[in-house]
Amino acid sequence: MDNRGKTLYIVVPCYNEQEVLPETASRLAAKLRSLTERGLIMARSRILFVDDGSRDATWNIIASLHGSDSIFSGLALSRNRGHQNALLAGLMYARERADMVISMDADLQDDINAADEMVQKYLDGADIVYGVRSSRRSDSFFKRTTAEAFYRFLGAMGAETVFNHADYRLMSRRALDALSQFEEVNLFLRGIVPMTGFTTATVEYERGERFAGESKYPLKKMLSFAVEGITSLSVRPLRMVMALGFVVFLVSVVMIIYNIVRWAAGATVTGWASLSCSLWLLGGLQLLALGVVGEYIGKIYLESKHRPRYIISCVLDERGGED
Ligand code: UDP
Ligand code: MG
Repeated sequence: MDNRGKTLYIVVPCYNEQEVLPETASRLAAKLRSLTERGLIMARSRILFVDDGSRDATWNIIASLHGSDSIFSGLALSRNRGHQNALLAGLMYARERADMVISMDADLQDDINAADEMVQKYLDGADIVYGVRSSRRSDSFFKRTTAEAFYRFLGAMGAETVFNHADYRLMSRRALDALSQFEEVNLFLRGIVPMTGFTTATVEYERGERFAGESKYPLKKMLSFAVEGITSLSVRPLRMVMALGFVVFLVSVVMIIYNIVRWAAGATVTGWASLSCSLWLLGGLQLLALGVVGEYIGKIYLESKHRPRYIISCVLDERGGED
């Protein structure tokens, strides 16, 4: 088997990651070099850090890494656009330069040793290799339960994803080319990557702890990420609203019959309690339904503008230098 033509890019989105970057960089460089020495990938392979508008020294660290070793490349976004957009920016940049691209987080929670197996599976013919967590023992109780609830809720709402797979994966160039044709701004990569088709494989790994710094995904961001995921992949909530409307309609038919019977029996002026309760209930349900519908309309509004998903302000690459 001749693998000499294969170039690997490791894409790492970074937002305020000054505490972890130096360590991450040295570990990733060692990994890339060992893959090169074993003849699995070409020496042209790179580690591409995408600075997602960090406010700390992240970009300076990336620049000095690039200065000291051309194995490191850097991409700066003009402002913070969120993990998914930063990742997409890196993937789209790398796709023109690499045969395969691995994406991972800056905090090394994803075991980088799984990369060997990913590359091997790519060489064996897979276009997409998903990194799947074998356990979440090392996550905090809160993170673990909320994350698992997140996956279950997504599934219940009709948004199908690879269970316990986040954004640690390998993609071949042609899978990335396919991904580039998805132009949505409501970006939920782990949902649309499987839609590209192609041969897939999985690699299991133990999820470690973030070794420094803080999670950039507090509960609030996780919730909005869940909404993005559901609205990006499924219209089940709209169907649920319709089903709810139908059920309420059936109840109202029963109520009408009940009221007619009560009227015929001559007992008409009782039960303001039941009246006011149903008033609140129906008002609440209507607002909820409106909210769900509105969420989708909001998404249509955003999609219809076709705004750029990210803007690159700076590139550090040995080919072009800084521009
Ligand atoms: N990240 C980013 N932009 C953001 C938030 C996060 O690029 O606005 C990056 C972050 O630097 C990290 C990855 O996304 O590399 C995952 O974030 P984090 O580790 O904080 O999430 P968690 O593992 O806690 O879910
Ligand atoms: Mg993390």
